[in-house]
Amino acid sequence: MELTQSVLELIRKASTDLSPDVEKAILDAFNKEKEGSPARSVFNTIIENIRMAREQSTPMCQDTGSLIFYIDFPVGETEKFYKEAIHEAAKEATSLQYLRPNAVNSITSKNSGNNIGINAPYIHFRQWNKDEVRIQLMLKGGGSENVGAQYKLPNSGLKAGRDIAGVRKVIIDAVLNAQGLGCAPGIIGVGIGGDRVTSYILSKEQFFRKIGQRNPNKLLADLEIGLYNDLNKLGIGPMGFGGKTTVLDVFVDAQARHPASFFVAISYTCWAFRKKSMTIKNEEVTYD
Ligand code: SF4
Repeated sequence: MELTQSVLELIRKASTDLSPDVEKAILDAFNKEKEGSPARSVFNTIIENIRMAREQSTPMCQDTGSLIFYIDFPVGETEKFYKEAIHEAAKEATSLQYLRPNAVNSITSKNSGNNIGINAPYIHFRQWNKDEVRIQLMLKGGGSENVGAQYKLPNSGLKAGRDIAGVRKVIIDAVLNAQGLGCAPGIIGVGIGGDRVTSYILSKEQFFRKIGQRNPNKLLADLEIGLYNDLNKLGIGPMGFGGKTTVLDVFVDAQARHPASFFVAISYTCWAFRKKSMTIKNEEVTYD
């Protein structure tokens, strides 16, 4: 099926070809570090790794993550059509070693061997009124996923109230707790509001933004910039070796909440920030 081959290429690109915005942010971070410093050496290794993965079409990290898809498709088309193509593409990508087998049955602990399992890959479907299809993919590494956190405000231990100052405190706490884990420098996605589930969903959706793309809401954009500056003063640095760059960016968004609840979900992704998008219009496929 043609769609299967296009999705296979999307997976290959996501796994092996880091997006230019992320690569530039890593190069900028490298240039900020002093000659001979451990941070500069770590960045140098990361940059070499990115180049080799692209040249050799091999995964930039041995953990190729969990596959999370978002599909925006026109009214009248079926979800089944896309789901079948994605499953076929994931199996083929695994056999071609663009992906490590990462779908484990949670009851038996048996790895399916082909990245297919219950809710794996996970596909979010959204219908829209355009006459084109957009398929977005993120490959979410397990180590960085493990350092994500959700807070319920108020939080007395952190003296964090139900306001922007409180939100700020819990985000800083999450990054401090992640140090040494999750393969810094990280990118931070934050979802304010919603319920237990939707706050995390919102936090992860931020990862489809490009580095430097600010929230259109001025208050949240200022929060992003302030956090980016403050988190980079923590000195955690790449892989926890110390340095000037602990995060490459911070993306925050907010949604409605129940009057009795105030959740803040923080998702963390490592430097191997693998996200790609493809658009199909008039049978032509473009990748971004
Ligand atoms: S956290 Fe990221 S870079 Fe580190 S092992 Fe996992 S996928 Fe790879």
